[in-house]
Parts: sequence; C-alpha cells; structure tokens
Amino acid sequence: MISEVINTNELHKIDPVFGQLSFDGHEQIVFCNDKDTGLKAIIGIHNTVLGPALGGTRMWQYNNEWEALNDVLRLSRGMSFKSAITGLNLGGGKAVIIGDAKTQKTPELMKRFGEFVHSLSGKYITAEDVGMETSDMDLVREVTPYVTGISEEKGGAGNPSPITAYGVFMGMKAAAKYKFGTDVLEDKSVIVQGIGHVGESLVEHLTNEGAKVIISDINEARLNEVSDKYGATIYRGNDVYSEAVDIYAPCALGATINDATINNIRAKVIAGAANNQLADENKHGQMLKDKGIVYAPDFLINAGGIINVYAELENYGKTEIMRKTENIYNTTLEILSNAEGNDVTTHQAALNIAQGRIDTRKKENMNA
Ligand code: NAD
Repeated sequence: MISEVINTNELHKIDPVFGQLSFDGHEQIVFCNDKDTGLKAIIGIHNTVLGPALGGTRMWQYNNEWEALNDVLRLSRGMSFKSAITGLNLGGGKAVIIGDAKTQKTPELMKRFGEFVHSLSGKYITAEDVGMETSDMDLVREVTPYVTGISEEKGGAGNPSPITAYGVFMGMKAAAKYKFGTDVLEDKSVIVQGIGHVGESLVEHLTNEGAKVIISDINEARLNEVSDKYGATIYRGNDVYSEAVDIYAPCALGATINDATINNIRAKVIAGAANNQLADENKHGQMLKDKGIVYAPDFLINAGGIINVYAELENYGKTEIMRKTENIYNTTLEILSNAEGNDVTTHQAALNIAQGRIDTRKKENMNA
C-alpha cells in the first residue's frame, strides 16, 4: 500500500516508475510527447476493473518530471477509490500536462493531447482538473469522444466544479454533525484554502448558511474578488493551519496535511475538495484520529465532479446528479461511524469499502 509523498530530490535513487512509492500496481502509464506543440503529458491508468479509467487532466508547472509522475500516480489511484465508493462503474485514471496553464496552453496543445487520449481507445476518459476549463475539454472533444466535462452547448454536463463544491458542502455538514452534533453551519468558522472554481462555490454555500468564512489563496486578485462578492474575511497571517477555526477546508492542491503542518492544525473538522490531502495517508490519517480531528475523506466528499461528468456517459440529468451528490452526506456519516466502530482512520474506512467493491467486481468478472 502506498502512503508517502516522495522527496523528489531523492528519486534518482529508486527505479523510475515501478519502484516509485506512489506506484500502486497501476495498469498502465503513458508518456506523451509532442515537439511541435510543446506537449509533455503523463496519463496514469490505475485500475479498470469497474469500468474505463475516468479522471481529469491537470496542467501544472511542476518543479521536475518526478513530481509530475508522482502526482499522476497518486491522483489516478485516488480516482479508482473515488468512483468505487460513489458506486460508479468507472475505473481510476488521471492525466497531467507539464507546463504553465496561463502561458503554455494552446488549442493545438490541447488537441494533440486529445489525440493521445484517443489512442487509448476509451480505456482512459478525460475531464478537467486544475488549470483546465470546460472550453479546453471542448477542444479535446474535436479529436476524441473519450472526454467529459464538455460545455452544455456542446451536449455536455458543463463545469463540474459547482457540483463538486455542493458535494464537499454535504460532506462537511455530515462531518460537522458527527463532531458538533449539528449539521447547521451557521456561526461555525470555516477557513477555505484555495478559492478557485470549487473553493468559490463552497464559499457561496457557506455564506448562504451563515458560516463565518475566512479565505486564503496565493492569488491576491481572487482574494479581493471573492471577499467583495461574499463578504468573506481574507486570511492575512502566515500559518493558515494554526488559525483557530471550527473547520478547515483544503481546496487548493494536495498533501497540505503533512509533517510540517499537522501539529499546527487547530480546526476540529477537515473537509475540503483537494485531492490527496493527507501527505501520508496512514501516518497523518492516524495522527488526525489521535488528535480527535474529524477528517472527511477527500475522495469521498469531492466526488460531485465525477458524478456530474459520469452523467455524460450514462445520460442522466441534473436531478439525478443532485440526488447522487446529496447522498455524499449519508455516505460520509456511514464512513465516520464505520471508522469509529472498527477503530480505524476515516480514510482507511473509506478505502476498505472502496477496495472491497473493486475486489468483488474482479471476482465476478473472473467467474463470468
Ligand atoms: P482551481 O485551479 O480553480 O483553484 C485552485 C485555487 O487554489 C487557485 O485559486 C489557486 O490560486 C489556489 N492555490 C494554489 N496553491 C495555493 C496555496 N498554497 N494556498 C492557497 N491557495 C492556493 O482548482 P479547482 O478546480 O477549484 O480544484 C481545487 C482542488 O479540488 C484541486 O485539488 C482539485 O484536484 C480538486 N478537485 C476539483 C474538482 C473539480 O470539479 N474542479 C473535483 C474534485 C477535486
């Protein structure tokens, strides 16, 4: 079982791919290179037992290629468990494009990436993640049908982020119910770290409910924009983790719960959208449990986006999308109580159930 974030400076000492700590028996890893467009991408296919590997594409300026590989391995694995626990017939996959989405993303690059996706004949289906817009998926759609998250005008389910945010809000309410005895978030203080597509929408839900919302981001313009729109307080300190709040909502990048931050965390509940929030899922999951912090597993509560894009494959509408997403509340409560009953971390409880579903299907497939 993988669990650690790797010190990428040490990676040359181990086998480059299969030897990576983040490698978890992934089925296939595809390196995509195109000189003409400058595309450098990696597609990670973790598991296809439940169905085609569906997961978004992230465009990010990684410090080095090891970091990109580590990210795609961790993200694609997370997608297998996310779809499994949500009851979707999808496997886990993810793609990363190495580069700055603001300056290096071109229509030609996106279409070339789409051609690589197409070459996998549907084993991997893409969607948007950090650094991607619905319009980018529309470009990919021009060269392959194996893409979701396309615009409503082009027949898709549109931007998944508001649905992701709604699911996170549901998961947060369930975690609050577990910790505070009420799921009403009025007057609860919540720090939202990262107010991008999902974070802003979460701020809206929280504001409507009367929570005291504090926002943190590295993008100053976003901070001012979102603060003006919702009246949220901008965090100006230098250690977001030690802020005395009821709830911490990680909505930027992953691994923010790590050796350097975990002892500073003062929130009593953690519930956010970011993938892979625990740098080391065993160690940091256990530390949160020991500290009495209720952690709503990320891959469980941020599944709204995949529920939304899955609708494009299964042809269900907005009502069903919202019903499935709202159900994250019930699943979260079940997982939290399962974790307590079995004396395991909440992350482990969710993982066990997800893995159980994959194992059962694998047996069925073998006996069919
Ligand atoms: P986004 O790129 O729109 O927003 C990310 C925000 O985080 C940006 O505003 C960025 O400036 C900020 N940020 C980056 N580093 C930061 C830091 N160190 N401190 C504070 N802020 C920082 O991305 P998004 O689509 O809103 O996704 C947010 C997270 O949720 C990602 O981890 C993503 O993988 C995950 N997620 C998103 C979806 C979805 O539907 N978009 C679904 C599931 C999971």
